[in-house]
Formats: sequence, C-alpha cells, structure tokens
Amino acid sequence: MSRKAEIPAQAGLDPAELRRDFPILERQVHDRPLVYLDSAASSQKPRPVLDAVQRYYTHHHSNVHRGVHELSVEATDLYERSRERVAAFIGAESARECVFVRGTTEGLNLVAQAWARPRLEPGDEVLVTEMEHHSNIVPWQQVCRQTGAELRVAPMDDAGDLLADEFEALIGPRTRVLAITQVSNALGTVNPVAELAQRARAAGAVVVVDGAQAVPHRPVDVRTLGADFYAFSGHKMYAPTGIGVLWGRLELLESMDPWEGGGSMIRSVTFEETLFAPPPARFEAGTPHIAGCVGLGAAVEYLEGLGMDAVRAHEEALLEYCVKELQAIPGLNLIGRPAQRAGAVSFTADGVHPHDLGTFLDREGVAVRVGHHCAQPVMKHYDIPATARASFGVHNGPDDVDALCRSIRGALEFFA
Ligand code: PMP
Repeated sequence: MSRKAEIPAQAGLDPAELRRDFPILERQVHDRPLVYLDSAASSQKPRPVLDAVQRYYTHHHSNVHRGVHELSVEATDLYERSRERVAAFIGAESARECVFVRGTTEGLNLVAQAWARPRLEPGDEVLVTEMEHHSNIVPWQQVCRQTGAELRVAPMDDAGDLLADEFEALIGPRTRVLAITQVSNALGTVNPVAELAQRARAAGAVVVVDGAQAVPHRPVDVRTLGADFYAFSGHKMYAPTGIGVLWGRLELLESMDPWEGGGSMIRSVTFEETLFAPPPARFEAGTPHIAGCVGLGAAVEYLEGLGMDAVRAHEEALLEYCVKELQAIPGLNLIGRPAQRAGAVSFTADGVHPHDLGTFLDREGVAVRVGHHCAQPVMKHYDIPATARASFGVHNGPDDVDALCRSIRGALEFFA
C-alpha cells in the first residue's frame, strides 16, 4: 500500500492543487523544492491575497475615513468590507466588534491595558495557562505589576493537556481574567475553551482568548466559544503581516477608554476636552494598515472558499499521519501528545540539537522552526531548551510529511 493511501480521507481538499495557489512554493531552496512546514510562524500567501493587495495599491489606494474624493471612498469601502467579512467569519454579532490591530500581540496588549488596567485591584487574579505564548503572558504580567493583581498559572500534564482539577481549583471569586490560548503554538494542543470559558465567566471573570493558532485551522465562532475578547493575526491565516483583529463584546469595548490617542479615534477635539469615537474606531488611532486589511479580507474569502470544515478535516488527517510517521523514527521524541491537536507537532531527536536539526533540514529544502517558540514555560515543563516544530497549512500534503521524515532520518544518521 502506498503511503498516501494510508492517510485518512482528505475531505475534499487537494493539496497538490492548492499548492499552485501559492507562488512562493514554486521556488527552490538550496536547489531543492521548498517543503514549507512553518505556517505556525507565518503562513505563505495565496495568489488571491497577493492580487488583492496589488489591485488595491494599483487602483484604489488613498487614506480611509477622511476623504470625500473617489479613491478615499473606495479605500474606505474596501477597508470596511474586510471588517464585515472578518466579523461574519468568526461569528461576531456586528462588524463594530472587530478592531483592526497589528496582530495577536497588539490585541492582547490592548485588552490588558484598556480593559484590565483600569479595573484590576490588588488581590485580583489573572489566570493564564502554562502553555501560553509569551504574548499572552507578558502583557498580563505587566498589568499585574501595574495594578497589584496576581498572575496565576493553570498547569498542564506531560501530554500537553491542561489539568482539569487544577484549573478548577484556580478559579475563584478573585479571578478577574482568564487569558487562554485556543491552540498551543508550541505543542498543537487544542484547549476545551468553551468549557473553561463557561467556568471562568460563571465566576465573574472576563475571558480573553488567543486565537492565533486556531483561526487558520478550524471554524471559529466567538459567541459559542463564550469568549469576551478574541485576538488573532492575519499573517498566520494567509493574509499579510502587520494586520490582525481584536474581537470584543460590544458592551465591553464601549465601556473601555482608548489606549492610544490620535487621528481617526475621536468624535471631537478641543484643548479642553476630547470626545472619543465609538468602537471600533476608538481603538484605531492613526492611519491603519489598509492594504493589510484588504489582504485579510481576501484571505478570509480564500478560506471560506475552501470551507473551514474541510480545512480542519484535511489538516487533522495530515497531522495524524505526521505523528504516526514521526513515531516510527527511532531516536525521535514527540514533545506532547495532546488529546486534540491542531496545526503543529513538536519534537526532538536524540543526540541532535534542535538548531542543528533545523539547519540540516533546511539544506534539504525543508523549512521547520526550531527554538522555544516564544513559549519558554513550555520548554521548562519538559526541561529542554528548544524543540523542532513542523506546522501545516492547507497546501501541505503527505508528500511533505514524507520529505520531513526522510530528512530527519538523514540527520539522525549524519549526527550519529
Ligand atoms: N499567540 C500564539 C499562540 C502565537 O502562535 C503567536 C505567534 N507565534 C502569537 C500569539 C503572536 O502573534 P503575533 O506575533 O502575530 O502578534
């Protein structure tokens, strides 16, 4: 039986065909065909996104919101249409709940500074998990220092799953914020966010979800998830860098003061007093990344065209195949075996430093990420300095997994 036949049904997506949507995948790296397994760090861009950005700059560009001339009207229209598309994509009730930000990092900092900082008091608690990306740890640490609140950490087991009883024990009357990732970038763990959010909200906490590694891989509905805020990055979901979204419940956004002042976020300004615009403009001071927003809208359209259920089924089947193949390599150690996995798998190889492994794979055209993945507490949990991580996009297929495994075997032999 061929390897390809061993993997579960591909749910209608044909990665060989989708690969043709991504011009960069036509290039060679070190005279080898590029095998791109680093979408968790940043995804490559399909032609419809590249075309939308080029079309925007070629035909429609001007600044948004401030002009009456035709180009400004067209740019504004494209910008706001992207917002509406994004809102529908994540199940927001209204486009007004979607604030354009630079990315997940900025979205989480916005919540920490504009929602939490004025509200937290000494003794209040912010609960994060052991598997958070630094961008869902550091902003909370900072706001705790600023307010006297305390940072608590929900631990995980060696499989990379949160410990339910410990989580439960950490939720209490002083829990004001639960900040949790939906999918771990370092381990691929899918957290049962809806369940945990319900528990936290019942205790009166606000639930902030890091959706950076979820939105590209599965259907997301912020309302059924029970989140209060949800942040994600365009560049991990086939859109340009420098653009992302913070979704927030409208009543929460309306209750918040802006965290940056400037143009576009005001209703009126005098030297005595400034009245702020309603959300989302209140949180979008200055000229936004208009082309990025246009690209993000095109990326959402691209994903909708594939169907998020199909994307999820395709990637889950591929991950399952990848895990099985990696397990069959003597000397390879999977880091984490979460009950539910999305997007990525981390591993180490006996006797090979992850950085050497990454460099070896690169020489064969296989792009994986090595390092701590901005999740140093995860590395500490496993008492390792770094892992190699393969992560997937819609264009990856079993042949990419085969190339990865071939190169890993080569590295193990080379460094033996
Ligand atoms: N959270 C997670 C889970 C991530 O994977 C990343 C990016 N690696 C971030 C947050 C930060 O995203 P960005 O750098 O786009 O702001």
